[in-house]
Amino acid sequence: MAIHAVNDSTFAVGVDIGGQSVKLALVDGAGLITLRRNAPIDPRQPADAITHLILDEARAVLDEARGRACSPAAVGVVMPGYMDRERTRLLMAANLPTLGGSNLLAEIRAALPLPVLFDADCNAAAFGEYRFGAGRGVDRLIVATVGTGIGAGVVLGGQILRTRGHIAGSLGHVIVDPKGPTCPCGARGCLEAHASGVALEAAAAAAADAEPASMLARLRSERGRLSGLEIGIAAGQGDPAAERVVRECGWWLGVGIASWSVVFDPQKVLIGGGVSRLGEPLLAAMREGFQEVAQPHLARQVEIGLAALGPDAGVIGAAALAMSS
Ligand SMILES: [Zn+2]
Repeated sequence: MAIHAVNDSTFAVGVDIGGQSVKLALVDGAGLITLRRNAPIDPRQPADAITHLILDEARAVLDEARGRACSPAAVGVVMPGYMDRERTRLLMAANLPTLGGSNLLAEIRAALPLPVLFDADCNAAAFGEYRFGAGRGVDRLIVATVGTGIGAGVVLGGQILRTRGHIAGSLGHVIVDPKGPTCPCGARGCLEAHASGVALEAAAAAAADAEPASMLARLRSERGRLSGLEIGIAAGQGDPAAERVVRECGWWLGVGIASWSVVFDPQKVLIGGGVSRLGEPLLAAMREGFQEVAQPHLARQVEIGLAALGPDAGVIGAAALAMSS
């Protein structure tokens, strides 16, 4: 009897709408991207113009797919912000303010010839890792995307957990340091105020000010900026100031994971997004912070790792959600 491999004949289209661009991909049943498109978005444009751009790009992907004799079964569209619980209305789009309250979702659904599913980008990243990435088959999984801010999705028993609207809550805003810095959300001492990309860059700038002889300070004057890339280069070459900044950021992430763990009891927590590119030193610091503060039985049980899908997490996750809808 023939043994059947993973069914690669099921395709879906993933659409990841960000503040700067819309990314689209045709994804096969094994999670591989077989074609992709990317178009810049001007966030100042009115909702109509952005909607048309997204629809044009989606139609172009469907046309190209047809040209290759592929028939995607569904389209998954993901973005940051808040939708209603049924995911039919966009209440607030974090990076694309003109889309908030617009008919974007209804217009996409009406214009495309396939079933369309909408979700949060953080849920897509989590489901993509569950289905095709570093969390494959993990029954209780948290995937946090640490970029400018911190967003996270929770997958329990193969299902996206939705407790607050369409998401599992704002995990980046758990309060880990009540006497700490104010967060842009209005609360005080959120994880995001200590461990986001913005917090990391602010800490690096302060370290460069305090230690003008550090490689951090030198890179800043050479390149005119101190982003995650420069922080990673300096830390990779053993600059103590940069190492300290990365350790601090990772430690706070570990504290955040300890707080998430008492609520969700995950088997595995994965970190993706731009900050995760700091790699092994960040991971080591996350594990250290987690071991230091977590309940001992959770400290023994919860595995912490890096997400596997990288910048494709949104489109692959969106397609994975569409395939399983
Ligand atoms: Zn906050």
